[in-house]
Amino acid sequence: MKPLLGQSLEELTDWVKGQGQPAYRGKQLHQWIYERYARNLTEITVFSKAWRAEVAEVAVGRSQLHFRSVAPDGTIKYLLRLTDGSIIEAVGIPTVKRLTVCVSSQVGCPMACDFCATGKGGFLRNLETHEIVDQVLTVQEDFGQRVSNIVFMGMGEPLLNAPNVVKAVRSLNQDIGIGQRSITVSTVGIPGQIRRLGDEKLQITLAVSLHASNQQLRETLIPSAQKYPLKTLIDECYDYVHVTGRRISFEYILLAGLNDLPHHAGELAEMVGGFQSHVNLIPYNPISEVDYQRPSDHQIQDFVDELKKRNVAVSVRYSRGLEKDAACGQLRAQKLAD
Ligand code: SAH
Repeated sequence: MKPLLGQSLEELTDWVKGQGQPAYRGKQLHQWIYERYARNLTEITVFSKAWRAEVAEVAVGRSQLHFRSVAPDGTIKYLLRLTDGSIIEAVGIPTVKRLTVCVSSQVGCPMACDFCATGKGGFLRNLETHEIVDQVLTVQEDFGQRVSNIVFMGMGEPLLNAPNVVKAVRSLNQDIGIGQRSITVSTVGIPGQIRRLGDEKLQITLAVSLHASNQQLRETLIPSAQKYPLKTLIDECYDYVHVTGRRISFEYILLAGLNDLPHHAGELAEMVGGFQSHVNLIPYNPISEVDYQRPSDHQIQDFVDELKKRNVAVSVRYSRGLEKDAACGQLRAQKLAD
């Protein structure tokens, strides 16, 4: 039997009925696992003792907290231990009005982008739906505050695990009450998958990791780009916008001297010009294996100005949690910054 987290009210109700229990127990079960953080059915005191004993071994699907570290800016990084012993990361990012959770979709990542710590550690497996939902509950429970936004920007490539990611998105929306528009799925692009995601007709934000303004440069940074030309990726993005009516946000890591020169801004503006899009610049967060440089604030501003001159809507994402290796691209499921 699959773990209960990630299942809808209807599915849970069907299950309790199959156990010979009245239907209203389904609603109680839903409330206790999604709102009261029950890790075990024996904790659910509204159930009879006899039935609790019977279902004591049924898995809710919560992971174990392995390690937790708080960065000076209030960002909290969680290492979670899954039932097979794998360790993944989730990050809670508080701001005045929001609590954002950065969730992982895989154990490790097979994409091996050269600037990203996760890819350096290799790939183990996809996460199950409940293992994704659990990350959000862990942060919500720990902060004692409702999660407002979710970004699939932790470990892994979400579109290599699309069925479980889509199920998790629906559960986060319907079972935990997070608006689809407050959920962002970030992808480096997997052939055919952006189009397929579009067909799900979700109201989520799709973020596409471009990181380079031309094919040649992109291939040097992102190995998978060799088999998935930028032009094909952009075509899929057009289809996505057409089918969903949603804007796309393009992510562009800034690597000093490599992809942040004025002619790169020109190429980038041309590439995204046909979209009602938004470009999110991410100044490179250093990782130990490679020696890319983060541009200076002055260089970053120059790149922003070059894009603005060409009417591109642009913002700079200054990553949170840098001090604790909890920022974009620094997630490697180790207690590096103890
Ligand atoms: N696989 C997904 C999610 C990955 S992480 C994707 O590629 O989109 C989310 C973002 O952080 C991606 O845009 C990723 O390219 C970026 N990132 C990776 N390493 C980084 C680093 N060292 N500094 C800044 N951003 C990084």
